[in-house]
Amino acid sequence: MRVTSANEPQPETRAVRGGRTPDVRALAPVLWASTTFEIDSLAEGRRLAHSSRAAEFYSRHGNPTVNAFEEAVAELEGAEAARAFASGMGAIAGVVLGLCSKGDHVVAQRQAYGGTTQLLAGVCPRFGIDVTFVDATKPGAFADAVIPGRTMLVLAETPANPLLDLADLDELGAIKGPITAVDSTLATPLGVRPLEYGVQLTIHSATKAMAGHNDATLGVVTGERDLIDALWGFAVLQGACASPFDAMNGLRGLRTLGPRLRQQEETAVAVGRMLESHSAVSWVRHPRLESHPQFELGARQYRRFGGVLSFELTGGFDAGARFVDSVHLCRQATSMGGPETLVTHPASTTHAGLLPEELAAAGITPGTVRMSCGLEHTDDVLADVAQALG
Ligand SMILES: *Cc1c(COP(=O)(O)O)cnc(C)c1O
Repeated sequence: MRVTSANEPQPETRAVRGGRTPDVRALAPVLWASTTFEIDSLAEGRRLAHSSRAAEFYSRHGNPTVNAFEEAVAELEGAEAARAFASGMGAIAGVVLGLCSKGDHVVAQRQAYGGTTQLLAGVCPRFGIDVTFVDATKPGAFADAVIPGRTMLVLAETPANPLLDLADLDELGAIKGPITAVDSTLATPLGVRPLEYGVQLTIHSATKAMAGHNDATLGVVTGERDLIDALWGFAVLQGACASPFDAMNGLRGLRTLGPRLRQQEETAVAVGRMLESHSAVSWVRHPRLESHPQFELGARQYRRFGGVLSFELTGGFDAGARFVDSVHLCRQATSMGGPETLVTHPASTTHAGLLPEELAAAGITPGTVRMSCGLEHTDDVLADVAQALG
């Protein structure tokens, strides 16, 4: 847990303070909807057209509201720079396609968000990019799959969606040669700062806990300035730039991320403990529960995991379907990290694009249910889960 040093404020405090524009007295983030900005002279226009991430030139390149969000996230991650994207997938596609060319090789985690797996398994081959999928829970799996001189990118997702598998950040950070990137969406920068372990890029779907209110579709990548500038060069042409409105909501979300994450994690642990003692449940996964196979690793590297947990019902598909159809307070919807507790059946929804063997390899069984605990009172969520199980 390397998140704080003695004279640095806690991450929750930094989340309240980050991304503020000097000289702006407004406490709330300011929405700059303008797509373009007046230029003083041709010389100035030429300079802006050739500079990376200018905040006031053209909004696909940069925008004051978007740049403020980027600065806040970079600060929280301990990164030099950040680039926001139109979504988490925009960010992941920006990293993969921005860095890799025909003939390159990628080492990627088998347990990952469905869209990420589809991009790597379905799209990358069309561009002549080879991908090797590895089991992140196996020590040394990422490093062993690296082909010196050919592997351009090592992409991990930890904790992984939906089963909360962890990748060892020390191992990832020790890999030299390829660029290492971690999708850190579930932990958020308040849970862990992968760059402190030597990882080069962090990726977030800020759509989830970071923006936190189900009202922004947003992604962000952080890392060293040179690397972010290089990614920016592709991102400007990719065109998946963040909307200023979503960036404003992202920035607003960061202000309350600390207490939201704490509450969501508390409920997830309480629900997890109740499920563990229920006869209709075969296993429960949350890295804060001692039953998690990587509990020790989680305790060593993370300060928070948030409110997402998964479990399997012994009755298979029928039981999983009945559960998600039987909750009342909880809502049946994909996504996570928002105020409402959501339940979803990954095999039918978030990971529906995977082939049956890919689902099996990712450990997503027909009876698997994912739950994202929200901000309702813990007792009310517990009562709803109990009645749905009944
Ligand atoms: C949701 C999610 C994504 C994709 O983000 P979008 O904002 O929906 O594009 C990527 N990675 C993880 C871990 C996610 O949960």
